[in-house]
Amino acid sequence: MITFHEVDKFYGDFQVLTGINLHVESGEVVVVLGPSGSGKSTMLRCINRLEETSSGQLTVNGVRVDERKTDLNKLRRNIGMVFQHFNLYPHKKVIDNITLAPIKALGVSKAEAHQTAMHYLEKVGIADKAQSYPSQLSGGQQQRVAIARGLAMKPQIMLFDEPTSALDPEMVGEVLDVMKALALEGMTMVVVTHEMGFAREVADRVVFMDQGKIVEEAPPEQFFSNPQEERAKLFLSRLL
Ligand code: ADP
Ligand code: MG
Repeated sequence: MITFHEVDKFYGDFQVLTGINLHVESGEVVVVLGPSGSGKSTMLRCINRLEETSSGQLTVNGVRVDERKTDLNKLRRNIGMVFQHFNLYPHKKVIDNITLAPIKALGVSKAEAHQTAMHYLEKVGIADKAQSYPSQLSGGQQQRVAIARGLAMKPQIMLFDEPTSALDPEMVGEVLDVMKALALEGMTMVVVTHEMGFAREVADRVVFMDQGKIVEEAPPEQFFSNPQEERAKLFLSRLL
């Protein structure tokens, strides 16, 4: 579903990604770990070309993301993204936040978009908030709206960039539960998170990054119990 082959990325003279090789199969959940500034967000944002790669090949669902001629709208329709800050439209009701893109980008009818939105709001457990404004919701509820909004585009891939980092601790669980349910349904997911419990329980694979490189890649049980690389050991020891 996603293949990075020798991908480099520079910001000016600064090399932020170096020789990234990563392969994500359909239905896989890959959790990306690593210290702040290691390039996790940049790598994630290359997948839907919110950032452009400098060299190497990046293929998503058979489409070369790194080629100029790639139809970005088509690419992005297939990829949902959830950020640390929920990025909801504050002046639009929850339901309208969710129906906007399907109506505008997919050309879905209002009635159908509404039905789909309610389906996903039920799924994330907040159908009763459809007529509320984002500011009337808790952080955890807002993030669940953001997930429902992503799902309403019926993407094949969901990207999560620290989706629980801005939440009060008591709301982290409700968002992780929604993500876990999504993983169990077979969604292809790449998740940047510091939630090690989620990584252990839900990830098929953990990718550890440091200084723009993938330093270690392993199944979670192996990564957490027996990390191979010094930098991974150091990272894990600092979490305790
Ligand atoms: P992470 O998500 O792991 O914290 P990022 O991908 O956000 O890391 O950033 C990796 C590195 O790239 C950091 O050193 C950061 O300062 C730098 N960086 C990120 N975005 C930009 C940008 N737009 N221009 C220049 N440098 C950037
Ligand atoms: Mg980041």
